Amino acid sequence: VKFQLTILGCGSAAPTTRFNPSAQVLNINENLFLIDCGEGTQMQMRKFKIHFQKIDHIFISHLHGDHFFGLMGYLSTQHLLGRTRELNLYAPAAIEQIIHVQLKASETYLRYPLKIIALTSKESEIILDNKIVTVNTIPLKHRIYCNGFLFKEKPRARNIIKQKIKDFNIPIYKINAIKNGEDFTLENGTVIYNSELTKAPSPARSYAYCSDTAYFEKIIKIIENVNLLYHESTFIDSDKTRAKETMHSTAFQAAEIAKKANANKLLLGHFSARYHEFQIFLDEAKAVFENTELCSDGACFEVE
Ligand SMILES: [Zn+2]
Repeated sequence: VKFQLTILGCGSAAPTTRFNPSAQVLNINENLFLIDCGEGTQMQMRKFKIHFQKIDHIFISHLHGDHFFGLMGYLSTQHLLGRTRELNLYAPAAIEQIIHVQLKASETYLRYPLKIIALTSKESEIILDNKIVTVNTIPLKHRIYCNGFLFKEKPRARNIIKQKIKDFNIPIYKINAIKNGEDFTLENGTVIYNSELTKAPSPARSYAYCSDTAYFEKIIKIIENVNLLYHESTFIDSDKTRAKETMHSTAFQAAEIAKKANANKLLLGHFSARYHEFQIFLDEAKAVFENTELCSDGACFEVE
């Protein structure tokens, strides 16, 4: 089952020819989740062949333009393409007015229900819980109200061993119950225990998105043991004063968080346009946390 992250943009502030501003798509078994929607996100989706009709949930971390200026265009395109299915938008509360004023001015009446889930809490909360995933907010430390998002795959049912179906003549209608942990009783009354009939599913996977934020240890507890962590690293260590002033992080600080949270893998992104070489981000992070990679637009990361 797929659990794959595609980076659509990993630059900060204004778009450049090198990087689009922040946007990512998480694909969990062909259910797509859009995370932030910087300017140009629609075009990146076309370029990297993201099937955007499959997106039913959009998560916006905060209302700095480089994280949401692509949203209105995206919502409008969904309307033009004839979407009728509900779209869920999780974002800081002011998004409601921002969208409303633009729709009103253009006298647009969306063909699909847009359900806005206004985020206001400063504590971590569950904002989505369905058959596929649980999503928690990760309150971050930034110049304005900002949340990261933790995606946790739902634990899957046990895998039934095919040979056992034949061996014990298990009827089809019993299979779901067995996958969910039930034992099977033969006609002669012998109980075959579930552990003999099934194998444990692979463990549920998780992804944490943390942008934008100053170095903030409070998030460690929320993201503990995450499989894949994206943590912003707008700056390198020699610009850490600038990082502090603007409430962003350095590559070294991102790696410190990854290490303290016992993450499996770290992705760096949200790079400032002041840099032209990126190896130094990797070197600084790897000195603290070895399993680190740099994002680039179009890059895909799979969690096995
Ligand atoms: Zn920001």
